[in-house]
Amino acid sequence: MNLHEYQGKEILSSYGVTIQRGKVATTPEKAVEAAKKLTEETGTGWHVIKAQVHAGGRGKGGGVKLAKNLKEVEEIAGQIIGMNLVTPQTSKEGKKVHQVLIAEDVYYPGDNEPEEYYMSVLLNRATGKNMIMYSPEGGVDIETVAEETPDLIFTEEIDPATGILPFQARKVAFNLGLSGKAFKEMTKFVTALYNAYDGSDSSLFEINPVLKTSDDRILAVDAKVSLDDSALFRHKDYAEMRDKREEDPTEVKAKEVGLSFVNLDGNVGCMVNGAGLAMATMDLIKFAGGEPANFLDVGGTADAKRVEEAFRIILADEKVEAILINIFGGIVRCDRVAQGVVDAYKNLGDQIKVPIIVRLQGTNAVEAKELIDNSGLNVESAVLFQEAADKVQKVLA
Ligand code: GDP
Ligand code: MN
Repeated sequence: MNLHEYQGKEILSSYGVTIQRGKVATTPEKAVEAAKKLTEETGTGWHVIKAQVHAGGRGKGGGVKLAKNLKEVEEIAGQIIGMNLVTPQTSKEGKKVHQVLIAEDVYYPGDNEPEEYYMSVLLNRATGKNMIMYSPEGGVDIETVAEETPDLIFTEEIDPATGILPFQARKVAFNLGLSGKAFKEMTKFVTALYNAYDGSDSSLFEINPVLKTSDDRILAVDAKVSLDDSALFRHKDYAEMRDKREEDPTEVKAKEVGLSFVNLDGNVGCMVNGAGLAMATMDLIKFAGGEPANFLDVGGTADAKRVEEAFRIILADEKVEAILINIFGGIVRCDRVAQGVVDAYKNLGDQIKVPIIVRLQGTNAVEAKELIDNSGLNVESAVLFQEAADKVQKVLA
């Protein structure tokens, strides 16, 4: 589950990470109120107005702007709230902005140019350890840095059993070229950041930029946080941070009915039981010249009700040109799944305009095939995996 910048900063701050402070607002009037309060609390004169959407690159899209007085706060908040923000990370339609973060200006115009660094904490699946990835080249696209100057990206592996050790924090500060007060501040910052990632059961914390101010403070100016959904039961307060407006509506619906679903760009809808079989099915669709339109695991109980819910979700996607149902009847009997497909088809009949290929393998597979073949519906059955793929290829041709 992804969070807004302001929510990520709340978590960071609760672990003692120093942040660029701010307040959220949903209207220009509230933005002015927030700016006034922030000035009282922080002494800031200028404010940065930042669109809160689940996408990076907001600055490039006009979603991050500096306001030099309260009138500008009101004007800019008015422009940004309600706009469809298009950034390099959104679709071309963009994302609707419902709220803005009014933040203190931390880039003081002064003699010493502020420094921007990149820092993230994530899981390294290859080593089974956590990893701090960081670079003195922050503020810009880290992908560009990785391509053009890969030696400016450093990594530090952290053993989850020990957590971050003091020498590791010092190494990070050293590699970023810091000394004196800033060096000390950075060791505190990176330690607190790691603890925030670990304590919140996150899968990603990305801070770009981490700022060194001209008075040698280290601040998180941005925060991209992905929490691990499987650990949310341990963090009820974080679970409440979910903003469904930012999520794919079909995926939200699928979650409500208990289906494991991820929307993709292709043209072949998949309905499969078991995540492994679902992945293999997606591979086979690709080999057959199609592109999967989704990942969908209906789970162990592929009964008529679930099959119908799955149909509805797949059919909501206009890109779908064919549906491949690939079910292994281990716990469920294939004939029951086949009956489920037939019943669901009859319920949704007029909504189904694309060919359906069903492959049922396992207990009672023969009975299941008969049931499908005798149903009189526009459903083709297949026995072998390859046969199913060939049929997909044929209907797409
Ligand atoms: P992103 O574009 O979505 O990654 O949003 P960021 O929070 O990273 O902000 C984008 C850019 O806005 C930063 O890289 C800074 O250059 C700029 N910015 C952010 N906060 C301030 C601020 O307090 N003052 C000024 N002048 N610029 C800021
Ligand atoms: Mn950023």
